[in-house]
Amino acid sequence: MHLKRLELNGFKSFAHKSEFVFDVPIISIVGPNGSGKSNVVESIRFVLGEQSVKSMRGKTGSDLIFKGSKDISKLNRASVSIVFDNKDRVFHLHQDNNERVNIDFDEVTISREVFSDGVNKYLVNGSEVRMKDVHELIASVNIGASGHHIISQGEADRYLNSNVKDRRELIEEALGLKVYQYRIKESQRKLKRAEDNIRESELLRREIAPHLRFLKKQVDKIEKAKHLRTDLHEQYKTYFAQEDYFIKTLERALDADRTILQEQYTEVIVFLDSHTNPEDVTRYEEESQIISHQQRLKDILREAVSLRQKLGSIEGMISLLEKQQAPSETKQHPGFSFKVVHNFLTSLLGRIDLFDSNNTISSLGEIKSDIQDFIKQPSTAVQNDNSSEITELMLEKNDVEKSVYLKGEEEQSIQSTIVELEAALELKRNNERESQRQYYEYLAKKKELDTKRTLITHRDETLGIRVQGLKEEHEEARVLLGLNAIEYQAIALEHEMDISAQNQEQARREMERIKIRLEDIGGGSGIEVIQEFQETLERDQFLEKEITDITSSIESLNIIIDELKGSLDMQFDIGIQKINDQFDRFFKLMFGGGQAKLTPSAIKKRKKKITEEGEQLELLDDEEGEKIEYGIDINVQLPRKKVSDLDMLSGGERSLTSIALLFALSQVNPPPFLVLDETDAALDEANSKKYGDMIESLSKYSQLILVTHNRETMSRAQTLFGVTLGRGDASTTLSLRLEDAAKYAK
Ligand code: ATP
Repeated sequence: MHLKRLELNGFKSFAHKSEFVFDVPIISIVGPNGSGKSNVVESIRFVLGEQSVKSMRGKTGSDLIFKGSKDISKLNRASVSIVFDNKDRVFHLHQDNNERVNIDFDEVTISREVFSDGVNKYLVNGSEVRMKDVHELIASVNIGASGHHIISQGEADRYLNSNVKDRRELIEEALGLKVYQYRIKESQRKLKRAEDNIRESELLRREIAPHLRFLKKQVDKIEKAKHLRTDLHEQYKTYFAQEDYFIKTLERALDADRTILQEQYTEVIVFLDSHTNPEDVTRYEEESQIISHQQRLKDILREAVSLRQKLGSIEGMISLLEKQQAPSETKQHPGFSFKVVHNFLTSLLGRIDLFDSNNTISSLGEIKSDIQDFIKQPSTAVQNDNSSEITELMLEKNDVEKSVYLKGEEEQSIQSTIVELEAALELKRNNERESQRQYYEYLAKKKELDTKRTLITHRDETLGIRVQGLKEEHEEARVLLGLNAIEYQAIALEHEMDISAQNQEQARREMERIKIRLEDIGGGSGIEVIQEFQETLERDQFLEKEITDITSSIESLNIIIDELKGSLDMQFDIGIQKINDQFDRFFKLMFGGGQAKLTPSAIKKRKKKITEEGEQLELLDDEEGEKIEYGIDINVQLPRKKVSDLDMLSGGERSLTSIALLFALSQVNPPPFLVLDETDAALDEANSKKYGDMIESLSKYSQLILVTHNRETMSRAQTLFGVTLGRGDASTTLSLRLEDAAKYAK
C-alpha cells in the first residue's frame, strides 16, 4: 500500500487545482519560503480528518479556504483528495453490526471539503461518509488521525519537548498501540454507560420497590380474600344444606306435634262441650223428699206426743172418775187421785223430752195451758156418776193408743224412707263428684294443651323466623359470592344426626368470623391491582435481569479492559525494547557514539490542596488508591561528553536526537508514509549526509514525503515537486529535475 496522489483545490494558498503524484518511495517538495510547501503537508493532515484547525495554522475552518488576492477572488470551498493504492485490499471498515468489510477497490480515495460556513464533508471513493469512517479507514492501515507520521515544521523535537505522560502516548501511537487505547477507552465508556445504566436501573427498582411492596400486600390480601371466599363458599354450602335439612326436620316434627295436639285438643273440647260446668249446683229430688219426710217425721212425733198427752189426760180422767166412784181413794186425795196426777206428770215429762229447741216457747205455752186445764177439772169431774164417761174415755183411750201405735209405725216407715233417700242421694252425689273431677281433669288438660298450642305457635313463629333468616342468608351469600353460592342442593350431608340448632349457630358464628375478616380485607375483585402488580413485578424482574446482565457485562468489560491493558503493557514493553535498539543505533550513527534509550517511569500523582497558607501539593492518600501515572523518560549519553540531560543539548544535538528517535519509531512500526517538513533544517553538512542515509534506509518500509531546503535531502528523492507562488499569490506546482531543485531550494 502506498500513497498515489494528492489533489488540492482551493485549500489555503492553492487557489487552483493542483496535483501531486507520489509513485516513488522518496518525494521532496521544494520551493521558496512562503510558497505553500507546509500548506501541502497540512492538506494531508486535513484530508485525513485532522480536527484541530490550529494545528493547520488557522482559527476557523474558513481559514483553510483560499482567501483571495488582487487577481483571484475569494473561494468558498476548499477540497483535498488523497489517493491510496489498495490492490492488497488493506483498507477496511466495520459495518454497524461490527462486521469488518474490506474496501473492494484497487484505489481508495479519501476526500474532504470545507465550506466557508465551516461545514465539512467527507467522501470515500466519491460516496459521502462520516468523519468517524475516515478515521477508522486510515486507522486500519496504521495511519493515526493525530498524525505521528506527519511531522510538521518545527515539530521534530516534539518527543523531546513533551512531558513523560504525553511522550508515552505519542510512543504508544507510533507503535500502533493506540488501537488498544481506543478499545480501552471504548470499553471504559461502555463500562461507564453500564454503571450508569445499573445505577439508573437500581434507582428505578428502588423507586418502584415501595409501590411493589404495597401492591404485593394488596395482592396477598386479595389472595387471602379469595381463599376466605372459597372457604366461606364451602361453609355456606354445608351450612345451607344442613339448615335446609334442619328446617325441614323441624317442620315435620312441628306438623306431627300439631296433628297430635289437635287431636288431643279436639277430644278435650268435645268432652268439655258435652259436660256442664260442675260449678252449677245440681238439685236432687231426694233432697226435697228427705226434707219433706223429715218434716213429716217431726209432725208425727209432735202428733205422737200430743196423742200421748191426750192418752195421759184420758187415763187421768179415767183414773179420776174411777176415784170418784171409790171413796178410799178420795179420802186420801180430796182433789185428784195420785194416779191421775202421776199420769199427768208422766205425760208432761214425755212432752218436755220431745221439746223442739226451735219451739221451746210455744211448747212451754202448750204445757202451761194443759196444766191449767188439768187443775180446773177435779171439782166438776168427781161430782157425777162417771161410768159412762169412763167407758167413753176408755174407748177414746183405745183409739188414742191405736193412733199412737200407728204414729209409731208411720215414724218407722218415714225413718227408713229417709235412710233410703239419703243413700240414693249419696250415690248421686258421689257420681256428681266423679264427673266433677273428670271435668276438672279435662279443664287442666285443656290448659296444658293450650300451653302446648302456644308453644306450637311459638315454634311455628320461630321456624318462620328461621326460614326468613335462611332466605336473607341466601341473599347475603349471593351478594358476597355470586349466584352459585346457593347451589348447595347437590351436596350430600354426612352427619345428619349431628345437625342441631347449636351446631348451626356454631357454623353461623364461624362464617361471621370469615365475613368480618373479608370485610377487614376490603371488597373488590382486585383485577386492576393484580394486573398492576403483575406489570410492576415484570418491570421489576426486567430491571433485576437487566442489572444482572449489566453486572455480568461489567465483569466482562473489566476483564476485557484488564486484558487490553495487559496486552498494551506487554506490547508497549516489547515496542520500547525494539525502539531502544533502533534509537541507540540511530543515535550512535548520528553522533558517532554515545547511548540513548527510553525508560518507562512511574510517577506518583499528587493532587492540589488549598490550605490557608496557599496551594499545596500532596500525595494522594493510599487508601483512596494511589494514582500512578506511567510515562517515558529519555536518557541520552553523548559521546565524549558528560551531558545526559536533554535540556542541556544544543539545538543541533536536540534535532539529531529527535531525528534518531523519530527514525527509530518509524523503523519499529513503519507507517505507510512519512511526511517530514524541514526536519533536516538544523543539520550541518556531515549530519545531512547521515540524515540522507537514514532516509534511504527508512524508505524501504515507508514512503517518504520530505519538505526540505536541504540539497543532500533533495538528492535522495526520486521525485521533486517545486512549489512557487504564481500569479495572484496562488501556489503552483511543477515537477523538477534535481539540478533545478537545488536552485529552488535557495
Ligand atoms: P517556508 O519555506 O518559509 O516554510 P512554505 O513554503 O512552507 O514556507 P507555507 O507556510 O506553506 O510556505 O505558505 C504560507 C503562505 O500561504 C503564506 O504566504 C500565506 O499567505 C499563504 N496562505 C495561507 N493561508 C492562505 C489562505 N487561506 N489563502 C491564501 N493564502 C494563504
